[in-house]
Amino acid sequence: MLIDSYERVVDYLRVSVTERCNFRCQYCMPEKPFSWVPKENLLSFEELFEFIKIAIDEGVKKIRITGGEPLLREDLDKFIKMIYDYQPSIDLAMTTNAFLLKGTAQRLKNAGLKRINVSIDTLKPEIAQAIAGKDVLKNVLEGVEEALKVGLSVKVNMVPMKGMNANEIVDVLEYCKQRNMSIRFIEYMENVHAKANISGMKSHELLEILREKYEFTDEGFDGASPSHSYRMKDGYKFGIIEPYEDDFCKKCNRIRLTAEGYLIPCLYFDEAMSIAECIKRGDIKGAALVLKEVVRTKPEKNRWGGEDAAVSSRAFYETGG
Ligand code: SAM
Ligand code: SF4
Repeated sequence: MLIDSYERVVDYLRVSVTERCNFRCQYCMPEKPFSWVPKENLLSFEELFEFIKIAIDEGVKKIRITGGEPLLREDLDKFIKMIYDYQPSIDLAMTTNAFLLKGTAQRLKNAGLKRINVSIDTLKPEIAQAIAGKDVLKNVLEGVEEALKVGLSVKVNMVPMKGMNANEIVDVLEYCKQRNMSIRFIEYMENVHAKANISGMKSHELLEILREKYEFTDEGFDGASPSHSYRMKDGYKFGIIEPYEDDFCKKCNRIRLTAEGYLIPCLYFDEAMSIAECIKRGDIKGAALVLKEVVRTKPEKNRWGGEDAAVSSRAFYETGG
């Protein structure tokens, strides 16, 4: 079992399979110019899988494939099947912008994928274009319908921003509710790669808007999930991810692996250690030691909130959120 210096059990690995993306979301990516990590620096699926096996053997129970946009990487279904075949009981999920989901959802499900989280920030085509930098909404919504049709469980992530999509909080929630998908509103996390002058919404502002329309009760945190849960009278649950709050890091159970092989102990900080060399030379023990060291050095909490609050220099498109 992997336990950090603050007695938190680390059993969740997020694997970013590429930093590349077909969107340029304002809150995530710089506009341009932009230079990608050369393709030859990426670990192959076989190499990522070698590390994943080590992580599972050390106690990881949940794996999320993310990116950049994971569906840009060819043969993703084969990679998913490798993980599923090694440990069918693993909680195997993916976060995607859904643009390429139509036509691939069935293959992903057949490979062993159980759940997906899809980013839907708006239901208005022109706002989607403004946020993502291109006309994306039709493909995204069709991708979601197909995922539901093939039986994948779907959760939606929305990052509400003032002057952009803040007036659609209820509409996006209703869209999800009608399809029995839960929604998590994510507070915009300040980072140096995002477009300047984004004004994110804090949890209390979201709750104020939602209270005008709904009655709901506060259910606290859902296990180790960073999402603060609320339940409506009819049983529907929604969540808010509040990285600026003190409690956010208390139950953190996750570490992140980038497509280049860097293991990252915390989404906020720049610190990382590479497992690439160990994996490439077949040094399983060495990679396991790096994993344990990264878990040991996991910081107590991020610095988005509190007295010494600061903007993060970590790129979400590299770490996978
Ligand atoms: N491309 C996929 C997607 O967009 O779902 C997966 C990668 S993306 C980095 C993962 C999640 O991070 C998305 O839900 C996105 O909304 C969220 N995200 C990215 N930048 C963020 C920021 N600055 N603050 C809050 N959430 C952010
Ligand atoms: Fe791409 Fe996801 Fe970042 Fe948007 S949030 S730019 S879809 S990686």
